[in-house]
Amino acid sequence: KKRELNRLRTSRAITRDRHRVALLANIELPADVRAAAQAGADGIGLYRTEFLFMNRPEPPNEEEQFRAYTKVIKSLPGKPVTIRTLDLGADKQVDGGRAGTAITVNPALGLRAVRLCLHDTSLFRPQLRAILRASAFGKVRMMIPMLSGQEELFQVLDLIEETKSDLKRERIKFNPKIPLGGMIEVPAAAISADLFASHLDFFSIGTNDLIQYTLAIDRVDDAVNYLYDPLHPSVLRLISITIQAGKQARIPVAMCGEMAGDPRYTQLLLGLGLSEFSMHPATLLEVKKIVRGAHLGQLTRFARDIMKLRDTREIHARVEKQSRH
Ligand code: PEP
Ligand code: MG
Repeated sequence: KKRELNRLRTSRAITRDRHRVALLANIELPADVRAAAQAGADGIGLYRTEFLFMNRPEPPNEEEQFRAYTKVIKSLPGKPVTIRTLDLGADKQVDGGRAGTAITVNPALGLRAVRLCLHDTSLFRPQLRAILRASAFGKVRMMIPMLSGQEELFQVLDLIEETKSDLKRERIKFNPKIPLGGMIEVPAAAISADLFASHLDFFSIGTNDLIQYTLAIDRVDDAVNYLYDPLHPSVLRLISITIQAGKQARIPVAMCGEMAGDPRYTQLLLGLGLSEFSMHPATLLEVKKIVRGAHLGQLTRFARDIMKLRDTREIHARVEKQSRH
């Protein structure tokens, strides 16, 4: 089976009715790029930069970040690399609390990700500079985690504009048209995805957090694990709303949470209209195999039927049955 999958490395992820699907890899450190390339990924859909900041007393400066980002870009020539800005806090704490992440009672609802970056711009600005500088060397996309309100996005856009002006003045190269994406992982952002779409170049659905926040289950608390359900109708509706908002605004919608790399859900997600999947490199070929066997027209009808079901157990049964085809 492994040999059979390996042969798919160089084949394209295209459905039987010839719809191209992008399969990208999630990475945490520049060294993970090898696995992504070996799996034949179309690029990096999620580079979790916070791992550069963890397990050390001081955060990396602009130069160190720039070197890490360009290393990833240069090892995947011509392929898109989606660099997510810092998602520290909650499940990804730093040592020493230099980043201002004091232990709070509800870290997942606290000062994390874009909130922390906007709270402490001395942490955010060097990263924005490093990402923009790296954008001169390849197809870099920038992505903002944990957006919950428009005001955060506007503040980020202002900071990016300021950083671009600084670099211009200093005659440092960058891509002025670097695509900016927003992670849709807070229910508020999914429900109002249309309000964010007009200011962004793409969406990426973060199902790990979206499920945590929608179902009110702490993703690191084993005691409530059993409630974790990507097929919960509320989760599916939020995913669908986000994909539809992206289509309306003509911006691509990706998914980079665990759900995107779970072969049980590939057909449903295709049917809901998802066109870009980003996942751990280990599951990429299996997902590619499903994409190549899929007929998008049929799956669109399948997904429509699933969204009409009124019984969660039936949703599970039907999705499981379909995934055995
Ligand atoms: C997510 O929340 O689905 C996601 C991809 O981000 P992370 O797992 O890093 O929070
Ligand atoms: Mg997340």
